[in-house]
Amino acid sequence: MQGSNSIDKLIFEKRDTQIFNIPDTKTRLSTLQNYFFPRLEILLRHTLDVVADVYHVNPYDRMTFVYCPSHREKAKENKDYGFVHIGVAGKRRRDRPLRIIKRDGTPFVLHVSYLTFNVLPNGTMHVNLLPFRQYVDDAHIAEISALVEKHSEILLPLLSLAHISYNSFLPLHNLILLKDKYITLFSPKYYFPVSSGRGFDELIIAFVLLYALEESFICIAEGEEPELAKMLEQFKEWYVKLPNIEDEIEEGEEEENLGLSEIPELDSYSFVRAGKWWAVLARDKWKCLSCGRSSREDGVLLEVDHIIPRSKGGSDDMINLQTLCKKCNIGKSNKDSTRL
Ligand SMILES: [Zn+2]
Repeated sequence: MQGSNSIDKLIFEKRDTQIFNIPDTKTRLSTLQNYFFPRLEILLRHTLDVVADVYHVNPYDRMTFVYCPSHREKAKENKDYGFVHIGVAGKRRRDRPLRIIKRDGTPFVLHVSYLTFNVLPNGTMHVNLLPFRQYVDDAHIAEISALVEKHSEILLPLLSLAHISYNSFLPLHNLILLKDKYITLFSPKYYFPVSSGRGFDELIIAFVLLYALEESFICIAEGEEPELAKMLEQFKEWYVKLPNIEDEIEEGEEEENLGLSEIPELDSYSFVRAGKWWAVLARDKWKCLSCGRSSREDGVLLEVDHIIPRSKGGSDDMINLQTLCKKCNIGKSNKDSTRL
């Protein structure tokens, strides 16, 4: 990973929450697909690199990416669920059905546990683990509960170390009592702006720890022996060697503030109405009109540029607005009125 795809340059800003306010559903969904998911993917891929290092596994062997809403452009059910998640679930096995049984007595074909980064319209990001996002048979819940109970001595302190809580007052190994309810394990929510040194580190730690559970749940569903004890030891080994997150923030603070103070001058977002901002990106097919790069393919940050600058009387009409990537926009100075 390098250049604009690096996690160091990745930031989720307050304005990103405006995507949820785009009134037209189609534009909103394609903005999510073309502008939001590509950046979440950078975070997810980076996190899976960490997972690979910590547990000495290749996450891509076992996991597949899951998106909500669907990332497919022509998805049949292009619904808007009012929130966004991207993460991993077990790959579909074609050779044999899963050991989890549906209400109607047939086995599940797709895995039911999801580990995701979730973004809510209020501008927060958190990590979320759903052990079963659909109704599953008691036998499966019992197996998961037994696994949690068996390892609770190591697991529970690690969960609290990573600030992970869950939506029940019952002990975690009593999941069986929840039956029809959906148990969720989740990290704290971090308010935008979220970036390296500002939420990412904590979110990645939470994701990496919960990955050990996600992988174990998948093993159980596939009839394999989970290696939770070994993975929790590997997590502990990795965690104790981590540099102190708070120290890092202090060191990087000055630099970060400098960067933030530059944004308003370069940023058209404060001038252009949110709906129009995204409409310009949609019209230009989420590509920089200068270099042709996109968020989806190249991970660049796209901005809306005034062709004739506002300082020279340029209007906020669509015809005076164009999509540029951050790099090209910085290159095109305020005096330049090039229509690209
Ligand atoms: Zn460009």
